[in-house]
Parts: sequence; C-alpha cells; structure tokens
Amino acid sequence: MKGIILRTVGGFFYVFVLEKRIIYECSVRRRLENKGIELLVGDKVEISLRPEKKSGVIEKMLPRRSKFLRPAVANIDQVVIVTALDNPGVNFYLLDRLLALTEYLNLLPLIVLNKTDLRTDNKERVLKGIEYYHKLGYNLIKTSVIDEKGLDSLLKALTGHISVFAGESGVGKSALLNLINPEWERRTYPVSEKSKRGRHTTTQVELLNLDNTGFVADSPGFMRLDISIIEPEELSFYFREIYDYIGNCRFNGCDHHEEPGCAVKNAVESDEICGKRYENYLKMLKELYTKKENKY
Ligand code: ZN
Repeated sequence: MKGIILRTVGGFFYVFVLEKRIIYECSVRRRLENKGIELLVGDKVEISLRPEKKSGVIEKMLPRRSKFLRPAVANIDQVVIVTALDNPGVNFYLLDRLLALTEYLNLLPLIVLNKTDLRTDNKERVLKGIEYYHKLGYNLIKTSVIDEKGLDSLLKALTGHISVFAGESGVGKSALLNLINPEWERRTYPVSEKSKRGRHTTTQVELLNLDNTGFVADSPGFMRLDISIIEPEELSFYFREIYDYIGNCRFNGCDHHEEPGCAVKNAVESDEICGKRYENYLKMLKELYTKKENKY
C-alpha cells in the first residue's frame, strides 16, 4: 500500500493511506535504514501491514519532488505566502524575498492577503500594491478570518497540493489554518506505549490532512530560509517582470544595476516595472554579492 508520512515521533512514522483512510503507525525496514535513507514528513512510501493489520512497516521510499531541511519536510510543492492588510501590514520586502525563493525552488507561489476586514487609512494603497502581483500572474487570495471571507478560494488552492504557510508572525497563519479546520488545533494522534517517551522531546513539522489529497505543513519555518542559495547573477530570473526584459539590455549578463543601456532600468523609469520591487531586487542583489565575496 502507498501512503504519505504525516508525522514522526520517537522513531515511528505515521503514514496516511488514502485507499483505507487510515493512519498507520509504522517502523522502517532495516534494509532501508542500512541504505542510509532518512525518511521525512511528506515522504511518499510503500508500506506492508503487520499480521494484526493495525500497524505497518515502511518498505520503500518513493521519489521526492522536493526536500527542505528547515523545516525538515519532503514533497512540498506550494508556498502560501501570508500577508496582512494591517497589524502588521504588508511587508513587501519579505514578500519579494519569499517569492524569489519560491521561484528559485520551482515551487508554486500563492499570495494571501489576510485581515481584509480591517479599516486602515492606507487600505487603497496596500490593495493597489498587492494587485500588482496579481498582474504579474501570481495567484492572489484575499481573506478575513473575522468575516470568514476567501475561505472557499483558499481551500480550492490547497487541494491536491502539499503546502507550507510562510510569512512573518502576526499575519494570521494559525488563525487561517484553524478556520479551515478547527480540529487541527486539538489534533491528537495515536501514540503507542513505545513511542510515548519521545513525544515531548521532538517538535517536528507535521502535515495536516486537508481533504485526503491536500496537505499543509504546520510549520512557519520557511520564512527563515536563506536566500544566499541564489547566485546573484541569476537573481533576475526569479523576478518575473525583470526576467521579461532579459536579453534587451545592451550587455550580456547585465545585473540591471549600474550598467548603461539597461532595459530593466528603462522600464522602471517608464513605470512599466514597479520601482519598489526594483529597489527590493537591488537590495537582495547587494546582499547576495556581499555574501558571495565573503565566501572567497
Ligand atoms: Zn539590464
């Protein structure tokens, strides 16, 4: 039977098997351990059941689509970047960082603007700012936990994916997850006598089961991911509107910074590219070059 690892505790893996709609507590076949294969939450596996049919053994790990170390989770394919209209408000720099990372990792980005029920003086300005991303082709969903708005769209976007929620604290990630499924807050798992000891010693990411096809990692760790894995020369590949102008600059390998005849800078001057996004690009570019120089 095939399943997906939702949680690991004390050396045991909790594998959800769709065809049975059951979570089995599994150990790992020694053969796999000997090969040095380290199983993660999110891994898709083949299991066999023990004779009593209540628990199982993981026999094989199926190919991974992706692997993160912080949080340690496999097969994430979508990053839900949560922002808030106010309190704390949209941090466009963090948004651009997370988007660039998501593009670099070849994951599907989804932008959520939460707390849309709040009344703020700059509401129009923030909405206009975030709509720019929608125009770039990013999926944008506006939500309010108070008014329970946008929930259907969010559920639809999560179905069929393994998603991780990212964003700074206070934007309402947990509140959104609890709105999707109030039971997630009080979730309990079968804990065997043997694994009880490990229960409080490991705090690892776990996958929440949305609808048996969609899963959400309950960790906000993604926002801490370091952008220095991106080569500075390639940063512009991960800004969609800048990428569109590559090849139009006078020089090959233009960084779109101080080079003459830069098509990107011209597009910023004629307002075809948002100046704020371009500033954030330059800020990240500087950071990446500084880090790279320090490496040598
Ligand atoms: Zn250029």
